[in-house]
Amino acid sequence: MKKLFMELTSPSSNCGKIYEIEEILESVKSPFQQIDFYKTKDYGILFTLDNIVQLTEKEEFFYHEMIVHPAIQTHKNPQKVLIIGGGDCGTLTHVIKYPEIKHIDMVEIDKLVVELSKKYLPHLTKSLEDKRVTLYIEDGFKFLKNKKNEYDIIIIDSTDPDTIAKELFSGNFYKEVYDALADSGISVYQSEPPFHPLYDEMQINVYKILKSLYNHVNFVFFPEPMYPTGYFTTLIASKKYNPLEVNKEKIREKINNFNLNYYNEEIHFASLAIPEFMKKKLNIN
Ligand code: SAM
Repeated sequence: MKKLFMELTSPSSNCGKIYEIEEILESVKSPFQQIDFYKTKDYGILFTLDNIVQLTEKEEFFYHEMIVHPAIQTHKNPQKVLIIGGGDCGTLTHVIKYPEIKHIDMVEIDKLVVELSKKYLPHLTKSLEDKRVTLYIEDGFKFLKNKKNEYDIIIIDSTDPDTIAKELFSGNFYKEVYDALADSGISVYQSEPPFHPLYDEMQINVYKILKSLYNHVNFVFFPEPMYPTGYFTTLIASKKYNPLEVNKEKIREKINNFNLNYYNEEIHFASLAIPEFMKKKLNIN
């Protein structure tokens, strides 16, 4: 009989996603969450937290490229980057591609996520060996409290709002992130699927909060087959630089040797286009 992993699109939903499993590699409870690693039949390693898909090896590139490159390409001179969450190191893998970045702090609350990712996703965690990277095992919310005017880019690669990451979706947290950014800083948030009723209210609230703080706030839209609905967003909030005014040729120059699978200079602009249903939801004309 086939062994299947199933995640419903929402708890009350009658649809979802199924992966065929060959082997359960790890199933442990950390002080923060249930952590599972599976070997799937067709998608490589599947990593879940509290039974929610965090990544599959085959599909992670959409999310990790799109939470990193549009924001970094928007900043004219990014030198210091902070990642909150992101313990599987998929996001870090893309940040270290930029030679102009001098220092990267990563703050992950759960040491076990990093340790097990080292075991099962070594092609991602090898990014931790980069000399510019410092890893903190700490709550990202607490870590930010003493930081003022320090980072050029802050990336929030957290779990969902109904998990241990709850505080990372609070009004106070957005203000802390804003204060920790330098004058021309940019923050990026994983902001869930655009077409999913569970996240409508959160997206409306966060968009409003970020608009009250920053000069430029843009949802970034992209496919992500491993997440519910297969369609996902990040949110870029920028104090100075406009993501729509980036030079196409410069993007091409910078990413030329990156060997990416989704993001490029065309996708940069296409992903910033807002679908009509989203304009209605956010009340944008
Ligand atoms: N977008 C991915 C997803 O939700 O599928 C996120 C993947 S990454 C594994 C998310 C990480 O955020 C987890 O390893 C979790 O432990 C971490 N995290 C959650 N709350 C956190 C907090 N308050 N501070 C730092 N890291 C946190």
